[in-house]
Amino acid sequence: MEITAPRGVRDILPGETEKWRFVEGVAYNLAKRYNYREIIIPIFEHTELFSRGIGEATDIVSKEMYTFEDRGGRSLTLRPEATASIVRAYLEHHFEQKPQPQKFYFFGPMFRYERPQAGRYRQFWQIDFEALGSPDPLLDVEVIALAWDLMFSLGIKNLEIQINSIGCPKCKEGYKIALKEYLADKLNLLCEDCQRRYETNVLRILDCKRESCRSIVEGAPKITDYLCADCKNHFEEVKEGLDLLSLPYILNPYLVRGLDYYTRTTFEIISYKLGAQNALCGGGRYDLLAFEIGGSMVPGVGFAAGLERIVMVLEEEGLLQDTEKGIDIFIVSIGEEAKKQAFKLLHILRREGISADMDYTNKNLKAQMKIANQKKAAKVLIIGEDELSVGMVKIRDMDSGKQEEVSLSDVLSYLRRWKK
Ligand SMILES: [Zn+2]
Ligand SMILES: [Zn+2]
Repeated sequence: MEITAPRGVRDILPGETEKWRFVEGVAYNLAKRYNYREIIIPIFEHTELFSRGIGEATDIVSKEMYTFEDRGGRSLTLRPEATASIVRAYLEHHFEQKPQPQKFYFFGPMFRYERPQAGRYRQFWQIDFEALGSPDPLLDVEVIALAWDLMFSLGIKNLEIQINSIGCPKCKEGYKIALKEYLADKLNLLCEDCQRRYETNVLRILDCKRESCRSIVEGAPKITDYLCADCKNHFEEVKEGLDLLSLPYILNPYLVRGLDYYTRTTFEIISYKLGAQNALCGGGRYDLLAFEIGGSMVPGVGFAAGLERIVMVLEEEGLLQDTEKGIDIFIVSIGEEAKKQAFKLLHILRREGISADMDYTNKNLKAQMKIANQKKAAKVLIIGEDELSVGMVKIRDMDSGKQEEVSLSDVLSYLRRWKK
């Protein structure tokens, strides 16, 4: 039987990888501009990092993690997100001894056992920015501005920034009581998951995707009415900072995000292009995460953006046309001797920084021209036996169809001039 990729994962094929790299390139340039330095974290970690960091009662930890025992009997988990790992790396390598904040950029695949559906995979890709070591509200603003700049730089429109503050554990306690009171007589209207969440982690009801639960949530008390003085101040300063930069935002008091580690600021950037409103990226502040995973108190703020959804939106908006560029030169050769010459020339061109390829199937001229076309070559070099006997090469411009004869010894300088 033919072996296919496992359910929920897929290959990102040539043609698509260019789009991936385009988005990643934009993110990488922004990382440099905002002074976030690249970090590469392991694919798997101790399971405890995520269960303690993200929270036992979250969907991610309770039912979506790829957890396995290795040959040494350790429980390991494929990373379902990047923040916990980056905080772990910060602590492990004593970044607190360097000037604060320390800022990180990361790009790579994540793994969650979710029901596969359009645009949602069990291996999915994220761009991630994290700033650790400062509680300054302006750092929250910087991170939101960076997320906005990422979408802007990619050319995505019809976006909205939603922000909220979910306070600290002190604020959350009072709010949880109020929320439970509000939901007490509506329990039978909630979905099964939310009935369980009511007992284990009532805040998670706020991000249930089911329509029936959402309509109940809409009348719930707002967490922003329960913020302590410090958290309230912090939120005010975040909003002031956003105003200072003229960043448009709307307040969404039910935005809590699906992870337990968030404190104070949470935000998402929503696209209205994907039919239902859909978050292209999201994040927030997590001042207790480092402590929760066994380290010292290290405040932090960051966000993650999903590659699949961003590429989907870019495609819908027709913003990816230029990513599938062809090669500079395709060399067509007819005959044994011409093929050898073509092969040698190919090597020289490539070492000159010219992208080039040739035919390896010994097809006839017409078939080779067809391949050149498919490879979107800008120019085709034709070396036939007749040409070779007089030391000439034909160069055809594939756009204009214009053809020139150039002596073999002048090909390189001709192409150098053209490439400039
Ligand atoms: Zn508070
Ligand atoms: Zn629900």
